[in-house]
Amino acid sequence: MEINLELVPKERRKPKPDPKTLGFGRYFTDHMFIMDYDRDRGWHNPRICPYQPLVLDPAAIVLHYAQTIFEGLKAYLGVDGRVRLFRPKDNMARMNRSARRMVMPEINETFALEALIELVRLEREWIPSERGASLYIRPTMIGTQATLGVKPSCSYYYYVILSPVGAYYAEGFNPVKIYVTDRYVRAVPGGVGDVKTGGNYAASLMASEEAKAKGFTQVLWLDAKERRFVEEVGTMNIFFYFEDELVTPELTGSILPGITRDSVIKLARDWGIPVAERRISIEEVIEGIATGRLKECFGTGTAAVISPVGLLRYQDQEYVINGGQTGPLAQRLFNELTAYQYGEKEDPYGWIK
Ligand code: PMP
Repeated sequence: MEINLELVPKERRKPKPDPKTLGFGRYFTDHMFIMDYDRDRGWHNPRICPYQPLVLDPAAIVLHYAQTIFEGLKAYLGVDGRVRLFRPKDNMARMNRSARRMVMPEINETFALEALIELVRLEREWIPSERGASLYIRPTMIGTQATLGVKPSCSYYYYVILSPVGAYYAEGFNPVKIYVTDRYVRAVPGGVGDVKTGGNYAASLMASEEAKAKGFTQVLWLDAKERRFVEEVGTMNIFFYFEDELVTPELTGSILPGITRDSVIKLARDWGIPVAERRISIEEVIEGIATGRLKECFGTGTAAVISPVGLLRYQDQEYVINGGQTGPLAQRLFNELTAYQYGEKEDPYGWIK
């Protein structure tokens, strides 16, 4: 498919924001990619056009029944001036997994990645050059049919928007305080927790707002059935580094298969660290802290790459991990992954595109 180009004239392009004020997802670039779907034509009319509001009927299915999926990845400007993406094919594959689960039409992964790259190339000047800063890429698909019937939409938009974002760790690589909730759950067996659909994030808001009001950065989610087995931390996967193994919850269906999670598993194994993907209970974590067997705990995700956990609060007790400090494994993983992303180190895995 030919991508139609409708460009903003140079003199009408927005000024670039001050890199110090970037934050996360506050600014958007001049252009977006969008294509349309209907039953007769399939995906059609792919175009790069000025960033603009969408026209949606107030009855559009996405607005009522949340038929929506998205992805999140980043473009990094390297020390050599080259732009790099980290495992973008995996994001496209996960987009289609999400599409299948939400009964939405799949996209051609090769074409969608080419379109994304063309958009990033066009917006290259928006990629911040500070170490840790990047251009966040948000592919999104929504059901647009105007009907109040609960059924899969027969028409869709797929679009990609870009947002320059600041370094996640503006004041250094800092361990966070986490609230373990046994009151709320993020996802249930048989549900949609293992795909990136909007409803999962809406469902998580109350727990994370309550945790923030109590002075915690995020929530640690437990399984819905027994409220006992660890699932994820905020919108990240979680790892526990015990004396003899690195443990992360196995993908049981209510956990998002993170691309950073997969990368950390591969790196750790190649460094000779035994990695187990298995169920891990909150009791085992707490006992590990009490006995000193648990050396480190950290979250993994595109936004922060690695986010060390310095403290857990569970049922009115606080448990400090590794003296509240960043551990050497978290630091090493962070250094390695960001070195690939910013082109400081050759990536032996073929993750960089
Ligand atoms: N879990 C959830 C719920 C997420 O939203 C994300 C972010 N995509 C992750 C984990 C981490 O996934 P990734 O490493 O692919 O960014």
